[in-house]
Amino acid sequence: MTSQLTGIGVSDGIAIAKAYRLEAPDLTVEKRSIDNPADEIARFESAKSKAAEELEAIRLKAAENFGEDKAAIFAAHLLVLNDPELTSSVTGSIEQGVNAEFALQQAADTFTAMFESMDNEYMRERAADVRDVTKRLLAKLLGVHVSDPSAIDEEVIIIADDLTPSATAQLNKEFVKGFVTNIGGRTSHSAILGRMLEIPAVVGTKTAMDTIEQGVRVIVDGTDGTVLIDPADTEVGTYEGKKEKFQQDKELLNRYVSEATTSSDGQHVEVGANIASIDDLPLADKNGAEGVGLFRTEFLYMGQSDWPSEEEQLEAYKAVLTAMDDRPTVVRTLDIGGDKELNYFSTPEEMNPFLGERAIRLCFAQPDMFRTQLRALLRASVHGNLKIMFPMIATLEEFRQAKQMLLEEEEKLKADGFAISDTYEVGMMLEIPAAAVIADLFAKEVDFFSIGTNDLIQYTMAADRMNESVSYLYQPNHPAVLRLIHNVISAAHKEGKWAGMCGEVAGDPLVIPILLGMGLDEFSMSPSSILKARAQIAGLSKAEWEGYIPEILQMGTSEEIIKFVQEHSK
Ligand code: PEP
Ligand code: MG
Repeated sequence: MTSQLTGIGVSDGIAIAKAYRLEAPDLTVEKRSIDNPADEIARFESAKSKAAEELEAIRLKAAENFGEDKAAIFAAHLLVLNDPELTSSVTGSIEQGVNAEFALQQAADTFTAMFESMDNEYMRERAADVRDVTKRLLAKLLGVHVSDPSAIDEEVIIIADDLTPSATAQLNKEFVKGFVTNIGGRTSHSAILGRMLEIPAVVGTKTAMDTIEQGVRVIVDGTDGTVLIDPADTEVGTYEGKKEKFQQDKELLNRYVSEATTSSDGQHVEVGANIASIDDLPLADKNGAEGVGLFRTEFLYMGQSDWPSEEEQLEAYKAVLTAMDDRPTVVRTLDIGGDKELNYFSTPEEMNPFLGERAIRLCFAQPDMFRTQLRALLRASVHGNLKIMFPMIATLEEFRQAKQMLLEEEEKLKADGFAISDTYEVGMMLEIPAAAVIADLFAKEVDFFSIGTNDLIQYTMAADRMNESVSYLYQPNHPAVLRLIHNVISAAHKEGKWAGMCGEVAGDPLVIPILLGMGLDEFSMSPSSILKARAQIAGLSKAEWEGYIPEILQMGTSEEIIKFVQEHSK
């Protein structure tokens, strides 16, 4: 019988497919003494052969679906699994009287530490293979099921507690038609990724993992946040119809693809795309992006087993800048921490990771890594219209320090004969209330601001962007949020600088008229939101909305402001 869940619809559209549960198994290992080493070794050998069978099957499937290139990783895993040194290290410990799980964990820790300390990048990457293989073997020994998203080869809807950016990087976009998570809000990174991939997504359902079984048919309505579990055929029919209508509406917007974004009274604003890699550019182009307002470079650092080198980063930035040609391209320096993690770098457990050593704070703590990124960006600057942006700036000193490090690297590069553009800009994300309040002081030193409302709202409202229980406090139209945004835009303009927005609010139809009225120069959003925003702006008069701003800024509640916007929008 059909049952229904409601969450937060974060990426529009309808998807109908089988559920695929992404389990995060408990692989905690305990040390036990054993009496019969021969039996324990046999148990280990049996786990090994089950893991080998599984890996071989995945390798064949991957080769068939994505080619030998992608399958090579599983061949490497098989090599690790059958490595005689690893095996003898495990069996040696078992013979000393410890259980197989503990012996394996110990051997794996020794091997990963050894690989990680090597100079050779190829060898360092092997540490990740050892970790993956150990996980698979431990799951077999402990008798727990581990999902293998890289093996998905049919259309599915992912059901997960949360979809972390690194898990998403492993998903095959061809088969993943939508996702539903227990936790998260409109601006959690899972939600942002859903919009980037243009797949329907519902987050923050709280109970999806408790109620949706593997393989059951699921309908996801990412527009209103509804999830139907095991729907009747008549319901599937209704939703097929809705899906078609959604597609048709989307096609109607296509007439805006090659138009500039202009209000009804002829004012041009720039509408750009938020991207995570060069792979997102085709989608940005398909939706007529006028620039890239946010390149989240942290994705370059994920799905890797070590920090990307200067050359690797140079190639990535150069490729994006070259493809964008003279269109403005804002590249944000590394923003890791919060809900974004790297598997080769562990930050200490923090009570409040979004208030912890994140983004620029972490870059200052890892200056060599940060300087490598700055050098790659500077060297790429001659290939396009680059704007470098620092995330999570709270104090003037932080901005000055980041810029100082950039200028030092520029000096060094010039001394070494590298060409550097003399027109690149240096700006900052405006996403911490403290910085928004003193935007006038920052405006004297930066080339531009880009307002990051995802964080600005969570910090202003003291409401974790990942926590669905407080998601009602994600209020882009809250008077405090709007006053801060207004302060930032006015401060920028007083100093002759430009102000953009790359938080999700830039594509929010209930805020766009206000932003236009406040004079926001650039709106950057998930590519899939661009055409809708452009169509909306085409119907709005900038002068009229500018006139409404003083009145709006005196209103007391989000509700009142939303009502005003709805009544005055056509
Ligand atoms: C923001 O905070 O609004 C932003 C664009 O950055 P991120 O979502 O990556 O934190
Ligand atoms: Mg942010």
